[in-house]
Amino acid sequence: MSDCLVIGGGVIGMMGARVLAMAGARVTLLDQRKCGKESSWAGGGIISPLYPWQYSDLVNELSRASQAVYGDLCAALLENTGIDPEYIQSGLLMMNDYDTPKAQAWMDKNQLDFQPHPQGALFENIAQVRNPRLLKALKADILKHGVEIVERTKVNQLITENSTTLGVVTDNKKYYADNVIVCSGAWSSSLLEAKNTIYPIKGQMIVVESKVGVVEHIVLDQGKYIIPRKDGRLLIGSTMEDVGFDRSTNTQVGADLLAFATARFPQLKNVSIEHHWAGFRPASRVDVMVEKHPQLAHLYINTGHFRNGLNMAPESANRIKKMIEG
Ligand SMILES: Cc1cc2nc3c(=O)[nH]c(=O)nc-3n(C[C@H](O)[C@H](O)[C@H](O)COP(=O)(O)OP(=O)(O)OC[C@H]3O[C@@H](n4cnc5c(N)ncnc54)[C@H](O)[C@@H]3O)c2cc1C
Repeated sequence: MSDCLVIGGGVIGMMGARVLAMAGARVTLLDQRKCGKESSWAGGGIISPLYPWQYSDLVNELSRASQAVYGDLCAALLENTGIDPEYIQSGLLMMNDYDTPKAQAWMDKNQLDFQPHPQGALFENIAQVRNPRLLKALKADILKHGVEIVERTKVNQLITENSTTLGVVTDNKKYYADNVIVCSGAWSSSLLEAKNTIYPIKGQMIVVESKVGVVEHIVLDQGKYIIPRKDGRLLIGSTMEDVGFDRSTNTQVGADLLAFATARFPQLKNVSIEHHWAGFRPASRVDVMVEKHPQLAHLYINTGHFRNGLNMAPESANRIKKMIEG
């Protein structure tokens, strides 16, 4: 397989680099910061769209195919790197929206079942990963597969000639390859000269320390969620803010997220916020973009995963690999 340049080392770029390297490509991955420190780090790690019927068929196809391989993928990463992405089928308790006609019709069509639960509907098969660990494992794994990682190197523009992409320009030097794959998350628009097609939607999230078992399943209600990690910590998120690349967090938002959790689990009333952060989801004005560029040969786009990049990453990577293989 030919040389590939991957632009962006989030979950999308690293999964992409992994499958390409495993298929025999010589892969170089460039990131303007460090790999796995942006949205993919900031996310919750739920391996499913929150309310699947609110998303396009493409999002659901990419999710379903990814869900089918996630457990094995995490096991392989653990075996190869010794880093455990903590893939756990913790199930998701949905407390609202599952009983609307739209949700019911979608579930009938897609053969998705839930167990009745006193507080809603329990989707037992839904899993989570501990995304910061998944990213560490992916980075270690792709290095082992021979991927060259170049960090703190911002790609400023593509090199194109006669409608063909030849490489990229960074501050220090030019990189050339047979194929270029843009996986730059919320920053992708500037490289693609597709002004505002992909844009950031900020999400704030908090984590609190708790005991194992206080919250058994991922809990989803009114668009907000609580994710119980293996060690008892609880992630509580998240906001949806159209404010550009503003990384600030807001104390009131943290208090509101904690109140959301304590309203449902009064045992949490004395916990305090251990950490509070924000990340930039790559929102798209079209849909998730997993495609060959329509005008420029040898340019591929893997971005716009919005709220579902962690769960769509494996199949998105696979599809790009198949396109490159022709
Ligand atoms: C609060 C929150 C909760 C979330 N929860 C979930 C969830 O539970 N489940 C789920 O599936 N998804 C979730 N998401 C969404 C998910 O995190 C994203 O869809 C996913 O991380 C996108 O991955 P990415 O690799 O495209 O972007 P990123 O992880 O942002 O990676 C993009 C990378 O590109 C690099 N880059 C950008 N521009 C350039 C350039 N010009 N040159 C070089 N490098 C560049 C950046 O430095 C960055 O490392 C959540 C997101 C947030 C913010």
